[in-house]
Amino acid sequence: MADLPNDADIVVVGGGIVGCSLVYHLAKAGWRNILLLEKHQIGSGTTWHSAALVTVLRGSPTLAALARYSARLYASLERETGQATGWRQNGHLTLAASKQRLESLRHSVSVARSFDLDVEMIGPAEIARQWPLLNTEDLHGALWSPSSGQTNPTDTCQALLKGARTLGARIVEKAAVEGFDIANGELKGVRTRGGTIRCGKAVISCGLWSRQVAGMAGVAAPLYACEHLYLLTDTIAGVTSNLPAVRDSDAYLYMREDVGGLLVGCFEPNPKPLPLERLPENTSFVLFEEDWDHFEPMMQNAVHRVPALGSAGVRSFINGPESFTLDGAPLVGESPEVRGLYVAAGMNSSGVVYGGGVGWALTEWITTGRPPIDLWTVDVRRYAPADNTLKALSERIPEVLAKHFEIPWPGMDYETLRGVRRTPLHAALAARGAHFTQRAGWERPAWFAVGEPPALTPSYGPTGWFPLWQEEHHAARNAVAVFDQTPFSKLLLQGRDSEAFLQRICANDLGLPVHGVVYTPILNKAGGIESDLTVTRLGAETFLLVTGSQQSTRDSHWLRSHFEPQENLCLADVTSAYAVIGVCGPHSRDLLARVSSADFSNASFPFQTAQPIEIGYARAIAIRVSYSGELGWELYVPAEFAVSVFEALAHAGAEWSMRLAGVNAMGSLRIERGFRSWGHDIGPTVTPLEAGIGFAVDFEKPQAFIGREALLRQREQNLSRRLLSFVFDSAEVFPHHHEPVYRDGVRCGSVSSASFGHTLGRAVALGWVTGASVDAASLARSSFEIEVADRRHPVAAHLKAPVDPAGLRMRG
Ligand SMILES: Cc1cc2nc3c(=O)[nH]c(=O)nc-3n(C[C@H](O)[C@H](O)[C@H](O)COP(=O)(O)OP(=O)(O)OC[C@H]3O[C@@H](n4cnc5c(N)ncnc54)[C@H](O)[C@@H]3O)c2cc1C
Repeated sequence: MADLPNDADIVVVGGGIVGCSLVYHLAKAGWRNILLLEKHQIGSGTTWHSAALVTVLRGSPTLAALARYSARLYASLERETGQATGWRQNGHLTLAASKQRLESLRHSVSVARSFDLDVEMIGPAEIARQWPLLNTEDLHGALWSPSSGQTNPTDTCQALLKGARTLGARIVEKAAVEGFDIANGELKGVRTRGGTIRCGKAVISCGLWSRQVAGMAGVAAPLYACEHLYLLTDTIAGVTSNLPAVRDSDAYLYMREDVGGLLVGCFEPNPKPLPLERLPENTSFVLFEEDWDHFEPMMQNAVHRVPALGSAGVRSFINGPESFTLDGAPLVGESPEVRGLYVAAGMNSSGVVYGGGVGWALTEWITTGRPPIDLWTVDVRRYAPADNTLKALSERIPEVLAKHFEIPWPGMDYETLRGVRRTPLHAALAARGAHFTQRAGWERPAWFAVGEPPALTPSYGPTGWFPLWQEEHHAARNAVAVFDQTPFSKLLLQGRDSEAFLQRICANDLGLPVHGVVYTPILNKAGGIESDLTVTRLGAETFLLVTGSQQSTRDSHWLRSHFEPQENLCLADVTSAYAVIGVCGPHSRDLLARVSSADFSNASFPFQTAQPIEIGYARAIAIRVSYSGELGWELYVPAEFAVSVFEALAHAGAEWSMRLAGVNAMGSLRIERGFRSWGHDIGPTVTPLEAGIGFAVDFEKPQAFIGREALLRQREQNLSRRLLSFVFDSAEVFPHHHEPVYRDGVRCGSVSSASFGHTLGRAVALGWVTGASVDAASLARSSFEIEVADRRHPVAAHLKAPVDPAGLRMRG
């Protein structure tokens, strides 16, 4: 091992494509004392044997932006550094060998357009023209993505390092990191056999070893490996270097040209998990045995698609390790456990696709304190510590690989790792027909079967459970519905300085009376929405903060990282202590009055207040808020009393035709009512003024709050984007999310949430409109369309919610 320096400004641990991209971007961003430590040799982990396709077509705007950045970077690196990368922009064809796949690709093509990708649907004749060796007999069409390409992963790493070295970055091979020095939750150094390097910042980019390396610092990086295979053939007549890559998802296959032959890879339906113990210790360039039996079904599919493969010789069989995450997206960002220690790993067989982009985005995050784009989809803080158990990872991860090529039907759920995080009401709800869906590990009722359960045939349009969803929605609007909202994250903030702290952190006025309730955004310095919370003052020095089910780690981290040393504050996650039973609808008051001695009238229990109440045998906190737009209360019931309270409600509810309702009904209710959802409609890159929730910002409160200056500046200017509600003209269109919005024929934004709106009798959406004039008058003069599945549909745009715009119903 070369001599190591005593200190560095930043240490990058692991020299695969991600680590190389990081040092390149850090050097370009002006960091000087940069050190990359690689245990073996650059690229010798997973990167060297990557198929290195750079498919820009991705399912979320974040992933698409990272991929697009990578493609552009790889295309320019050779020019910049003089080091060849092997980049070729041949484009990618995603084939549809079934009508369902064709329908799915039509949805994808529209979504891709909303991510600014250049894409189109083509027919079998054009496919045959582009790829004469393909059997197109059973093909219905394909999605053509000309900006996708392929690269040589090893040469690309070398080009990135050449660029970084020119700017002074130091790269040391054969230098394994063996531990971290941490004091008071802050990184102080990185330990190696050759000594400790003092540093305040380090990034773990150790690929599939990242969970183990992060574990040395007590940091959770939930990822797990699988075997991942492809074969390389000898040359095949007609295979030319300009052929697009092909993905035949129905056959679990992808293919690309490789030195005149084909690389044939797969995402098989029965992947093989790879516990770390099976990897040889201290070995680089690891490959596993050639498993021909495992590959055989895919090979048969490949020969069907490219008959010339039947007579081609096989040059080599690659079976390498690669890591995946619980939801198929990477893990990026500062660890919530250790200040200054970052993670960039879990690439889900797309490390070359994302590597360039992750290096760029994380560098900017580390350098400026804020990422350049909304990174929530990949934020390492979307997980809770329990998600990092080996049992959970080993069960779910093979399914993640297997689902890679499956049709992404709306509402698709994983089948593994189910039923492990249940609310106290789970059994009672299951007995009453709940069909569960999963979020943040929680099982949440999606809808309730009444009588015979409906067929679960997946669909982009109405499904078997559509009528049940409709009935639950109408029950909430017209009678009373009960929701299990337990998965909400609940944080208890206590201490002498809690009010002052919240006044500094929150944009709304937190100078609440005891039992006052307020909805508030938490902003970053640029005015972007880091979270939105419902805050209830439970006592002079005690506040209950309620946020989204997946946000407890992230929001706790944000809050704690803003604590000042002299402040008297204590933050505890009390999510598991309380069940939350939502009761909403015009008869919610009647129902609650039947089971509780409290007075639920407007005079005694006004909107946005809370009260400790007796309900059944329990004492609970009732909070009068509404996410459905209807009169309603959320009951925070100590977990052990939840079932008896629920039973009392269920028993009394028959009088008002009470329905149990699921998250699908809550979704359609809230979108009709125009309520924003963090992580969908709002996030760190949009401000409350743009999002139309300026009512939740109190510019007049005496305390300065984070983001105030930025919002004041924005208030003086014309907005350049706005979040609007849209209602479709036709009742036959079913949008989901991310569809492009057109204004007077020109694409101007995209849908952030959509649902069928059962009150409106047609689909309803929230979506962004960007442009020079987004004031009410000019919006009113424009005509709007939304593109769903490659067809545009007229919609009416509303600045206010299409249902109950004045919010009278919830004020009861
Ligand atoms: C068969 C196959 C096909 C693939 N095809 C594609 C594709 O077409 N497109 C695509 O985008 N992706 C593809 N991938 C995935 C892609 O190769 C990976 O996602 C990517 O290479 C991961 O890069 P990385 O930098 O995160 O990890 P790695 O390349 O594994 O680098 C991590 C490095 O960290 C080092 N390290 C580990 N522990 C320590 C330590 N304690 N101290 C210091 N260093 C340490 C390792 O030695 C290693 O070099 C494929 C993968 C496989 C297996």
